[in-house]
Amino acid sequence: MINIVLFGPPGAGKGTQAKMLSEKYGFNHISTGDVIRGEIQRGTNRGLQVKEIMERGELAPDELVLGIIEEYIKSHSDCAGNIFDGFPRTSNQAKEFDVILERNRQTIDVMLALEVPDEELVKRLKLRAEVSGRPDDADENVINNRIEVYKKQTAVVADYYEAQSKYIPVKGTGTIEEVFASLCKAIDGVIARKA
Ligand code: AMP
Repeated sequence: MINIVLFGPPGAGKGTQAKMLSEKYGFNHISTGDVIRGEIQRGTNRGLQVKEIMERGELAPDELVLGIIEEYIKSHSDCAGNIFDGFPRTSNQAKEFDVILERNRQTIDVMLALEVPDEELVKRLKLRAEVSGRPDDADENVINNRIEVYKKQTAVVADYYEAQSKYIPVKGTGTIEEVFASLCKAIDGVIARKA
């Protein structure tokens, strides 16, 4: 089993690439953002708790997201691999994630970090708003806030994995296929090392 953290700012292409990677390698894929959007749509307690937070572009409480992840880990213990997309997003989530993984006799193998300049992110998110229907994509102030939140609270998570020699930066610009090829090369390297 290989566990991958797919990392990067909002609009870096994590969702698109995670979907392609999970198809190619037969991995499961969890996007905490997608799970939260589902909870909001269904009007669950969790959904009600975070609707406004998400609409402002802020982060959901760590405990809520960690609860989602623990449920996921418990129900996906026997598979080729997992791609974690949009999680962990704070240092505390990263530390607690390791505790959850250890409890389930698992570990993270690699963090693949997509690197995309800010101007490109804003351009992509505005374009995505036309098809995604996401309220947090539709408002430029919210887009900018999400990028700020990423810089202030999330970017440091890369240091956590770098300290464990698990961090691999990947150029996130170019075509979707070019980025996909770079990610596959990195994953193939990890698989070869584990074999
Ligand atoms: P995303 O779909 O990854 O862009 O996430 C959309 C929104 O969901 C974020 O702006 C947060 O409000 C919330 N969210 C998703 N993942 C997390 C996480 N790991 N920690 C806290 N909030 C999250």
